[in-house]
Amino acid sequence: MLRRCNPHRRPAVSDLRIAIIGFGKIARDQHAPAIASNPAFQLVALVAPHGATDVGVPVFADHREMLENIELDAVAICTPPDIRYGIARDCLERGVHVLLEKPPCASLGEIADLAELSRRTERSLFTTWHAQFNDAVMEAARLIAREGLGSMRIAWLEDVEKWHPGQQWIWEPGGFGVFDAGINALSIATAICPARLLVRRAVFTMHRAGQQPTAVTLGMTASGVDGPIEAMLDWRHKGEEQWTIDIRTGAGTRLRLSDGGATLRIDDLPAVRHGRGEYPAIYERFAALARDRESLVDSEPLRLVADACLLARRDSI
Ligand code: NAP
Repeated sequence: MLRRCNPHRRPAVSDLRIAIIGFGKIARDQHAPAIASNPAFQLVALVAPHGATDVGVPVFADHREMLENIELDAVAICTPPDIRYGIARDCLERGVHVLLEKPPCASLGEIADLAELSRRTERSLFTTWHAQFNDAVMEAARLIAREGLGSMRIAWLEDVEKWHPGQQWIWEPGGFGVFDAGINALSIATAICPARLLVRRAVFTMHRAGQQPTAVTLGMTASGVDGPIEAMLDWRHKGEEQWTIDIRTGAGTRLRLSDGGATLRIDDLPAVRHGRGEYPAIYERFAALARDRESLVDSEPLRLVADACLLARRDSI
């Protein structure tokens, strides 16, 4: 029997029964704790093809089986991106609000189609870009809105073995390669740049498996920005990761976002450091969106990756 939320019933803020679909690293590290600490949500199920132990809620091997057997208001989809589209469609069609981990889908067409479906079903679709939810990023955006953007240099350097241990999907078609991490930087860049970013130059260093880049350099422009806008993304980095964005505003103020957007320095002085945390802020927003049946669909970071793939020169190592 299909049991789902009544389409005419609007859950109270403290009444969102949520399931996590895809219980891997990010779901365990961030989503489960953020849901547990937000009184608007109650975790009622998980979907984990290879099972999960000691979680205190029913675990299903397949999301369709879960949708048939559990009453739900919302899901957080934390699988690899290439299978999210089909799962999200099934959930929206059953009247369930959908949160998508980043990157939201494997293609721009998929995300446009889901946005359309969420309008038709009057359910919330939320493309989360977790790095945008840092207080430091919001403060940098406010400053740049006032002073304009002069230049921007992104360095997103990390060791893939540390952050994606044993994950093979990242190298497969639809796996994003170094863009899986670098898209966090691009999501900050699109949030703080006052004009649309355009990719002008892209160089990919391909992983030995040949499908996805392990390092990328980008040259970009934006209307009204005279200085360089550059990005260097590299998964071959050893030692401590570097997730920094150096900015000069139109008025000459120097901003440095570091720690993946958690810390802001203005003219070398500490300005903002951490806040309530990316994922708690994401779930606060999701609760509000679900309450109002509104969607927040932002595909700009994904569009930048797609444009880079269209324009790239590909070198092999
Ligand atoms: P992961 O550890 O490989 O987790 C992915 C999970 O999805 C696995 O547990 C896998 O389950 C599950 N899965 C695969 N197919 C499924 C299906 N059809 N139905 C339900 N579950 C399915 O990867 P991750 O690092 O958590 O990354 C997942 C997403 O989060 C990526 O898009 C990534 O960009 C994003 N993210 C990751 C991080 C990070 O630090 N790792 C940070 C922020 C965002 P089985 O293992 O049982 O197959």
